[in-house]
Amino acid sequence: MFRKLPISAIVAAMGFVSVNASISATAQTAFTGTAEPLPEAVIERMLASGSWQEGCPVALADLRYLRLGFIDFSGAVQEGEMVVAADVADAIVGVFRTLFEAGFPLERMQLVDDFAAADDLSMAANNTSAFNCRAVTGGTGYSQHSYGNAIDISPIQNPYVRVRDSGTLILPPEGAAFADRADVRPGMIVAGDVVTAAFADIGWVWGGDWTSLKDYQHFSANGQ
Ligand SMILES: [Zn+2]
Repeated sequence: MFRKLPISAIVAAMGFVSVNASISATAQTAFTGTAEPLPEAVIERMLASGSWQEGCPVALADLRYLRLGFIDFSGAVQEGEMVVAADVADAIVGVFRTLFEAGFPLERMQLVDDFAAADDLSMAANNTSAFNCRAVTGGTGYSQHSYGNAIDISPIQNPYVRVRDSGTLILPPEGAAFADRADVRPGMIVAGDVVTAAFADIGWVWGGDWTSLKDYQHFSANGQ
């Protein structure tokens, strides 16, 4: 059902392929990454969007605010922001240092609060993000994102793909152009690459290794 792609998805996919030439040169710029308790302004953003509410399974004091350098698809150095659990913060900074030094490109890294804490909007914007107190995709229990123990990387290049007799669900829909995992293009995560290796080094599990469905963007501490 997703064979027939919208023109916009095809154009976007071609764009990502064609602008990737200068990454190795810029990747030599030094990585910067910091982790700190949530600044008051960040807490205000989280409360306003509802990414954290009273009753969420992690206290604000147990989350950390990261600022992380990354390489974009044009090869330029950018700085993004992310909220994760305090006890994984330093390890996650290390993962993104590895991705930066390898020149692995990301489009954007913003808090989900910039997308009204709506996962579908964040995914459609190809946003790399972590904390969001929300239900698991396709279910009702808390997602590991609700604990700051899961990260989604470039959802368009790395969509959630669930195949059933009734049809194939691809999230975000913009990721349909990247459902063919054998056609590896910049920003795609594949088994044994720098991304899966960096997360494996800190003991995190990749959703691309799941068997019931594939969540290629998703990494988590406990494998859920
Ligand atoms: Zn996820």
